[in-house]
Amino acid sequence: MITTMHLSSKMQNRFTLKILLTTLTLTISCSSFSASEIISSKQVIKDITYLASDELKGRASFSPEIDKAANYIAKRFADIGLKPMTIKNSGLNASNKNDQFLQRFTVHQIKPKTLNVVINGNEIASENLAIASTIAELNWQTNDVKLHIVKQNDDMRKTVSELNQEGGQHLVVINSAHAKTFKGYQGYFNRGLTKLSLEHRGAIVMVLSDEAELNSVSVSASATITTQSLTNVVGVLPAINPQKSIDKTSDNNNAGEIVLYSSHYDHLGTTEDGKQIYNGADDDASGTTAVINLAEYYAKQANNKRTLMFSAFTAEEIGGFGSKYFSEQLNPDDVVAMINIEMIGKPSKFGAGTVWMTGMERSNLGALLNEKLSPLNRQIYQDPYPEQGLFYRSDNATLARLGVPAHSFSSTQLDKDEHYHKVSDDIASLDLSSMHKVIESLATSTQALVNGSVTPTRIDKAQVRAKGKIY
Ligand SMILES: [Zn+2]
Repeated sequence: MITTMHLSSKMQNRFTLKILLTTLTLTISCSSFSASEIISSKQVIKDITYLASDELKGRASFSPEIDKAANYIAKRFADIGLKPMTIKNSGLNASNKNDQFLQRFTVHQIKPKTLNVVINGNEIASENLAIASTIAELNWQTNDVKLHIVKQNDDMRKTVSELNQEGGQHLVVINSAHAKTFKGYQGYFNRGLTKLSLEHRGAIVMVLSDEAELNSVSVSASATITTQSLTNVVGVLPAINPQKSIDKTSDNNNAGEIVLYSSHYDHLGTTEDGKQIYNGADDDASGTTAVINLAEYYAKQANNKRTLMFSAFTAEEIGGFGSKYFSEQLNPDDVVAMINIEMIGKPSKFGAGTVWMTGMERSNLGALLNEKLSPLNRQIYQDPYPEQGLFYRSDNATLARLGVPAHSFSSTQLDKDEHYHKVSDDIASLDLSSMHKVIESLATSTQALVNGSVTPTRIDKAQVRAKGKIY
């Protein structure tokens, strides 16, 4: 799950305690599972233990260690018997069978190199400048650019966010009353931008200045653009015997319809000195473990009348590039539902083994799933933290923008989760028994989606906020 401003978190030193607690938790959890489980708790523990292990060094996008995680997931998909997705970059020609599940693509990283701004003849000091840009070289004179002034009592965040939504090239002069907010943006922009495509040429140049009249401006800026590769892991469970549907009036030929189970397998890597690891056990090794084990469950069931897709997305933490790329490789109209699983490793505020979903009011998916759960005295709850905007803070938002009933399922108590985006988000902080129960609830509740007997309503695209064009 992504933070709203990508600001890094304070580190915590719990290293020694961590190792001790890991052993303890595993022992307790193993013995507390019931014999009637439909999904192997042993396998669940094995998967999450590896994905959250120190060996993977926090699964940072672009790191060599995230590739180890990808290879592990790909091998699990191959062993389960999934098929690769049939698209151009799916690795179909790979000689190694496991590599066929790797969906490789590139992103561009744009880092600001130089920035010079002259307003009314005065050169502005660099500490009062910030730039977010997707353009390698820009040179603006007064009439080339849209000028904006943020006055003392204006809402700076709102102005900047609206310009980001609009796209294009903007110079924003910001009153020094907003100095603190300006510094926040400056720090964020200085780290550079990552973009899936450089198609949109846009820039926002910010100047901290009390200048109220802009008679003449001159801006020149340059950036370094590099290209790096990223990898999603995608496996498909084709629909079972759709051609045997002889009765044309029956609606059981659902092979062209897709139910998508997803998570993100990337996380934050290590602290800057490399000494501590953001294991991301909850965020989102837990969801990835769920996706793998749901794939195994449904492959064994062999009763899916719809095509099932299982996707472990990369680069969620740095802006959701994995799900964005994935969404461009298929027709979103074919995706009947997206069950995105994020942070299910600890009991929710509703109790151990319970789960809630984001954006429940946007489609009737939650109501349909609860029809399956209510006889078992279980239910999927509504997101208890609407003020956190969680619907937009994971990969579901990308597919929701395309109309897919795409929701995230989680159990985090985000308002007081002391491990969120901390090095202490390790396996010792999880309740694996609770997590196992959540996975089983998801398996049970989505059965009707899988066998094609229910179809949720679409999400209204017009009601889903667009992503910014520039940063
Ligand atoms: Zn996160």
